[in-house]
Amino acid sequence: MQEENIPKTENFPPAISQSKIWLSAPHMGGREQSFVQEAFDSNWVAPIGPNVTGFEEDIINYANCGHAVALSSGTAAIHLALVMLDVRPGDFVICQSFTFSASANPIGYLGAIPVFVDSEPETWNLCPQALEDAVKACINGKWGERKLPKAIVYVDLYGMPARVETISEVAGRFGIPLIEDAAEALGSRFKGNKCGTFGKIGIYSFNGNKIITTSGGGALVSKSEKYVEKARVLAMQAREDAPHYEHKELGYNYRMSNICAGIGRGQMEVLDLRVQQRRAIYEKYKAALGRYPGIQFLEEPEGAFSNRWLSAVVVKPELSDGKCREDIRLALAKDNIESRPLWKPLHLQPVFEAMPYMGGTLASDLFRDGLCLPSGSNLGTDDLDRIITIVKDVLEETKL
Ligand SMILES: *Cc1c(COP(=O)(O)O)cnc(C)c1O
Repeated sequence: MQEENIPKTENFPPAISQSKIWLSAPHMGGREQSFVQEAFDSNWVAPIGPNVTGFEEDIINYANCGHAVALSSGTAAIHLALVMLDVRPGDFVICQSFTFSASANPIGYLGAIPVFVDSEPETWNLCPQALEDAVKACINGKWGERKLPKAIVYVDLYGMPARVETISEVAGRFGIPLIEDAAEALGSRFKGNKCGTFGKIGIYSFNGNKIITTSGGGALVSKSEKYVEKARVLAMQAREDAPHYEHKELGYNYRMSNICAGIGRGQMEVLDLRVQQRRAIYEKYKAALGRYPGIQFLEEPEGAFSNRWLSAVVVKPELSDGKCREDIRLALAKDNIESRPLWKPLHLQPVFEAMPYMGGTLASDLFRDGLCLPSGSNLGTDDLDRIITIVKDVLEETKL
């Protein structure tokens, strides 16, 4: 992409002195600091301790995911998942293109080749047909050596569960393990089961902008104890069981701090409330803006329950008198309100430009027309009204 095509971030503070509305700000529940205080009182100021263990138990109980290890980030969790699935230099790993770069960066850390795959319109997540085409293309030598991909990374983007049944069917047919990137989907479910539990390995993120946060952190989960216990060892420099420091393989320093885990324990107490609040924000936007033909919302397909981490809309200029996504984004920015285009597909990112891609233009169309509206659970009614008024003004003003 050319330099001049990259939209610049607006300069703040803006001319109008309205208070800032963030896209997705941290929202404490109230008990976080007492868990952190406990860590200080007991001197567990380390990447191990009762909060880490307690937080892992909370995740296991909440998600019914079998086993969990708390890590320093969601990216670290994806990295360890790929290491455990034996991803090596030159291997193919299939990855949803329409996602945040962290889904694919660890593929690059390992010297493997990400094969990016387009999304489908019902969930905006991995398209099962394009997935199958990509697997076959790998096997048929379209991108070099003929070989089966080592893993598939798929995402529940913005909290919307992917079409896991069809994706699992394709992956199972070829015998390729699935990594579910549920970084944005803690609290989402499909047919009653929580997102994060559908692959061989699942990952969560507790970064500051996610539905709950530990200020920064992640988790790796699996029904299979061996992956989680292996990840636990790898995350602590792969130290063997010996009185001295003995190492047989390369390790990583990826454990979560007992301080951060204390924040996590407090946040887990309000997770279901946060899901309700985010879903209510989505409903409010839909009620106010759904009648404009140029604004499209992503409905939940049958069986899906989204945490609505971010409320995302698609703006169709041909149905809204030429008004486009950027008109809305810039109008909001002028009033000190942060909104953001949907993820730029990874196959269009300069860093991944040379990597294989399978699919059509759904992901790039979503990037062109899509906008994430402010969705933080701590937004007040006044904030939402302020946002909605501006969006309506843009849509209703006649183009001269
Ligand atoms: C946030 C996020 C990650 C990475 O999580 P970090 O904790 O920030 O490393 C991975 N994948 C997706 C889809 C994300 O949104």
